[in-house]
Amino acid sequence: MANMMKAAVFVAPGRIELAEKKIPDVGPNDALVRITTTTICGTDVHILKGEYPVAPGLTIGHEPVGVIEKLGSAVQGYREGQRVIAGAICPNFNSYAAQDGVASQDGSYLTASGKCGCHGYKATAGWRFGNMIDGTQAEYVLVPDAQANLAPIPDGLTDTQVLMCPDIMSTGFKGAENANIKLGDTVVVFAQGPIGLCATAGARLLGATTIIAVDGNDHRLGIAKVMGADVTLNFHHCDVVDEIMKLTGGRGADSSIEALGTQGTFESALRVLKPGGTLSSLGVYSSDLTIPMSAFAAGLGDHRINTALCPGGKERMRRLMNVLAAERLDLGVLVTHQYPLDDIVAAYDLFANQRDGVLKIAIKP
Ligand SMILES: [Zn+2]
Repeated sequence: MANMMKAAVFVAPGRIELAEKKIPDVGPNDALVRITTTTICGTDVHILKGEYPVAPGLTIGHEPVGVIEKLGSAVQGYREGQRVIAGAICPNFNSYAAQDGVASQDGSYLTASGKCGCHGYKATAGWRFGNMIDGTQAEYVLVPDAQANLAPIPDGLTDTQVLMCPDIMSTGFKGAENANIKLGDTVVVFAQGPIGLCATAGARLLGATTIIAVDGNDHRLGIAKVMGADVTLNFHHCDVVDEIMKLTGGRGADSSIEALGTQGTFESALRVLKPGGTLSSLGVYSSDLTIPMSAFAAGLGDHRINTALCPGGKERMRRLMNVLAAERLDLGVLVTHQYPLDDIVAAYDLFANQRDGVLKIAIKP
């Protein structure tokens, strides 16, 4: 093994470029994973545009599928050469935040650098790859706290099949789980990008029987049907809130899932809820939200609003891969393109500009 590798690094706003980097040393709790497939996330595009700041020189990417190259001395129960994934969010599961059930909000590893208080909580800090530490758009990635974060891939599942597990499927399913779905429910999913499509699929698996998918792109609405939507609404062609109130006989939806991160979708997700309904928010918002008083019943509507960051950890990944292995869902349809790591700048251009019906791009080192 040579000691240098190729990696896609953030240089400056508008510039993510391929660079040569040293292959990292493996500490006792780490694992070095040779990436066989990774992908580009909408969040990476925010980084590219400079809307989400990261350190110049940081390797981007947080969706690893690969093979264990080298295990740290304290990591047990795995073998080198094993196929694995790790969650996009890879917390230290010994932390206060993890033991409190919110591992994704763990910043305990930041205490040494003084970026976090000794309490260990820091919102979103469980997201380390391509945010706090070098990420996955590279030939190798160092997985921290590997004992808790590495999940073996079941035999028979391909890289492409499991590529959505680290982030997109985990996030989308969390959106459905946070929507408190009961058998027979009506659920509205706002935005049918890759995460919204997974939320639609998750709502179906959890027992919702009227799933209404909303988007402005008919191609995506077509895929929403495949993922389990019963009704699709294109917001260019109808007043979505009116239409949903008609479809529910004026009652409103039992829950709504917001999978974009704008005032408009958040507000509509609140307006379609029945009293007592749950709004499950997944979007990444980039400005202050306003809550409309009428839709909020002046604060007396028994509404619940849940937010989440993608759950990580080997148990979460194991369950997600079980759903795929049991053939309850096929997410291969979301992987529309494939690029070699060498051409990742072109892949970013395609993905950021949403050309050619792109949903997700498999990146192969
Ligand atoms: Zn992501």
